[in-house]
Amino acid sequence: MTGHAEVRQRLAEALRTGRLPQVLVVSGPPGIGKQRLALWLAQLVFCEREGPEPCGACRRCRLVDGLAFADLHWFVPVPRPKAADPDKAVDEAAHAIAEEMEERRSKPLYGARDGMASHSMASVRLLHRRAALTSVEGGRRVFILGDAERLVPQESSQEAANALLKLLEEPPSGSLFILTTVDPRRLLPTIRSRAVPVRLGRLSDDEVREFLAAQLTPALSREAMEERVALAAGSIGEALAAGEESATAYRAADQLLEAVLAGPAASYERALKQPPFSARGEFTAMLDALADTLGQAARGALGEESRRALPAALLQRRDPALLLRAMERVAVAREAAYGNVNPQILLAVLGEELAEVL
Ligand SMILES: [Zn+2]
Repeated sequence: MTGHAEVRQRLAEALRTGRLPQVLVVSGPPGIGKQRLALWLAQLVFCEREGPEPCGACRRCRLVDGLAFADLHWFVPVPRPKAADPDKAVDEAAHAIAEEMEERRSKPLYGARDGMASHSMASVRLLHRRAALTSVEGGRRVFILGDAERLVPQESSQEAANALLKLLEEPPSGSLFILTTVDPRRLLPTIRSRAVPVRLGRLSDDEVREFLAAQLTPALSREAMEERVALAAGSIGEALAAGEESATAYRAADQLLEAVLAGPAASYERALKQPPFSARGEFTAMLDALADTLGQAARGALGEESRRALPAALLQRRDPALLLRAMERVAVAREAAYGNVNPQILLAVLGEELAEVL
């Protein structure tokens, strides 16, 4: 568990003195370890030894670590079940969640969930069923609902959220519910009002650095490490997503922008000299990095702090409207990149267009 020392201390103290609330909403930016903190708390609740941290060595700690403790129920968004029959849909959701848990057992550093995954009515029914059972170990039970804002955004009724609400209004004794979300305002106010908020902030650069140094093999070079820490902006999720590939994409995007901003003639020439991309994925990654860089510059022009060092010439472009127009051009190129267009030609045209706009 990296960071959030103060919050962990507070939670451990509440648990020790019997004041831990039964429903918590853990919120904070993506990738900072909200569900990790929920798991840490579950481990602390279940640990056979008393202390401010789970011992990590007892039978229960090891089972929680392996996501195999019978009284820990971790619900993550999954693709919406296809079955029309409610019971079959619940089985389908249970299966999908179990599959995801299996995945996380083998690869603990998981990424963000697919955008279409959600907590469907079937998942909430499954949660109800599990909450109605008694504890396997004869003690507490912990239910984690990750990405809780994904409670059936596609379903027109608020059925799932309301069903969850009923459970949170009267949680079974000995149960602890931990909901995690990037934004508590995206939860129903009635759900929020049942829960005690736990807000997590971004991690410090030192914490991100420490995590990457401990987790990544082979180790990053000093330069790559600093680049990654800057891209992460206090989020381990971002740090993991911003792999070497993405760093390369941002470097290529910066080079293109620098050429474009050096003047139309230089832009055209440099764009044509752009080293060929070895794969189409690399090319589209560069276009995504380009759009993100322009977006950061636009937000920077509006006074927001940027997540990484932007090309110096770009920082002199202070008109957000022009930067947004440049982003539009990149979006069009991104569309075209799906087709069978030669990346070099596409880039030459895009370079010209960007030079015109910027
Ligand atoms: Zn333990």
